[in-house]
Amino acid sequence: MAEAVEATHSALQGRFEGNLLRSDHPGYEDARVIWNGMVTKKPGLIARCAHVGDVQNAVRIASANGILTAVRCGGHSLAGFSTCDGGLVVDLSRMRQVTVDADARRAKFAGGCLLGSIDSATQHAGLVFPSGVVSHTGAGGLVLGGGTGWLTRRFGLSCDNVEGFTLVTADGAVVHCNSGENPDLFWALRGGGGNFGVVTEFEVRLHPLTSVTLAQGLSCEADIRRVLEFWRDFMADAPIDLKWNIDLRLAPNDDHGPHDLRGRPVASSSLVWTGSPEGASKYLQPALSMCRPDSVSSREVSFLHLQTMADSCFPHGQRYYTKSGYFNYLDDATIDRLQEAAASLPSQETQIELAYLGGTASKVAAGETAFGDRSAPFIMNLLASWPEASADDVHISWVRGLFNKVRPAMKPGVYVNFMSGDEQDRVPEAYRERWDRMVAVKTHYDPHNFFRLNQNVPPGTLTPPGH
Ligand SMILES: Cc1cc2nc3c(=O)[nH]c(=O)nc-3n(C[C@H](O)[C@H](O)[C@H](O)COP(=O)(O)OP(=O)(O)OC[C@H]3O[C@@H](n4cnc5c(N)ncnc54)[C@H](O)[C@@H]3O)c2cc1C
Repeated sequence: MAEAVEATHSALQGRFEGNLLRSDHPGYEDARVIWNGMVTKKPGLIARCAHVGDVQNAVRIASANGILTAVRCGGHSLAGFSTCDGGLVVDLSRMRQVTVDADARRAKFAGGCLLGSIDSATQHAGLVFPSGVVSHTGAGGLVLGGGTGWLTRRFGLSCDNVEGFTLVTADGAVVHCNSGENPDLFWALRGGGGNFGVVTEFEVRLHPLTSVTLAQGLSCEADIRRVLEFWRDFMADAPIDLKWNIDLRLAPNDDHGPHDLRGRPVASSSLVWTGSPEGASKYLQPALSMCRPDSVSSREVSFLHLQTMADSCFPHGQRYYTKSGYFNYLDDATIDRLQEAAASLPSQETQIELAYLGGTASKVAAGETAFGDRSAPFIMNLLASWPEASADDVHISWVRGLFNKVRPAMKPGVYVNFMSGDEQDRVPEAYRERWDRMVAVKTHYDPHNFFRLNQNVPPGTLTPPGH
């Protein structure tokens, strides 16, 4: 591979306007690092593209030289797909332009944008693009995989709000797609991840919103069962303006919250109300009554506050491992398993994240996008996080053990953006009834599987993972 990388570097020099970083470049060490500290790969070349022409050249030449190639936007792939050993990284971090058409409530943003750059630009016009909950996450990976966040129940998944994509395909061509032009590609890109090319521009719908009501509270370990039962039943009839996420975790060991709960397992509720502030209490009060009164807060916050409040909880460089899935219903036995697991959380930063989907996202038919079936409303994400390599086994085993215990109660299916790197055998499970159509689109646009560092859908003649 070293020779092919050398040849790629030579071919790009002189025609590449961004930065070409090899291991002897002073910027290389910073540039090679991605968010998950478990992944410490060393690419042979990082091509930090300045514009679409750079992406075309990088893809065309790497493809011709047969080099393993990763695509990076925000570098938050939990699985570590946005880097590789010895190959090429197409780094989009210089491509972060956002343009907003306030009157049309539309925006265009470049393929390297972080969520924060989009939020800042759209809020200038009092508008939002529904995306994720941590502003340093890349929009490229998040939107292509689906995209869930605080506004999903109100406005749908991120990918549901995309009206068009521009991408560079494996042959270096620039292709545009929307509902009328290349509709199969448009379908596949809404949930199909990085399988089809490098997206250089997203065209999206925006919605008016500048603030929300945010309520938070903790329930002690003994109350976890009661809270989860209440949440399960309450959310079934909740309006789309309400999002209620519950994390089972250890309460922070800081000055916030009740003293006796610090470091103890708790159910941590975060509720976001996007309707009128006057209408909030009817729905927030019953939920908050499940929390310890001395831990409860409720206030109006700006959308930008909402979007950045969790940023410091997910630092770059920490070690992370995850497994996730859906439930049609959170049965009593599963709630028991989750309560037991809360008592054995292996570290302060590890959590069981529970979200209730439903709402606008669930109104999109299963066949309308590659993201597929949204009928199972409960999403569970087991996210372990720890600082030192010596604790890898403890954390990974804890996640796997709990996942295996609750898996029989799950609905088959998985959100590709909440998968770890050792789960390629679950990719067909993610796309199930949509698999054949995904393969057909992949075969057409990337017949040699140039874009394979992703939750990979191999083209027609290749064997699918796990078969
Ligand atoms: C701290 C944190 C918070 C998160 N919160 C949420 C959340 O609230 N909601 C949610 O839905 N998900 C969330 N996720 C998961 C997130 O959606 C995925 O990790 C996603 O891959 C991150 O995108 P990225 O661009 O940063 O990833 P990268 O690591 O840069 O890229 C991951 C993959 O995406 C593809 N890709 C990225 N950009 C492009 C592009 N422009 N064109 C083609 N392919 C591309 C490539 O295949 C690449 O391998 C979160 C992840 C983290 C780490």
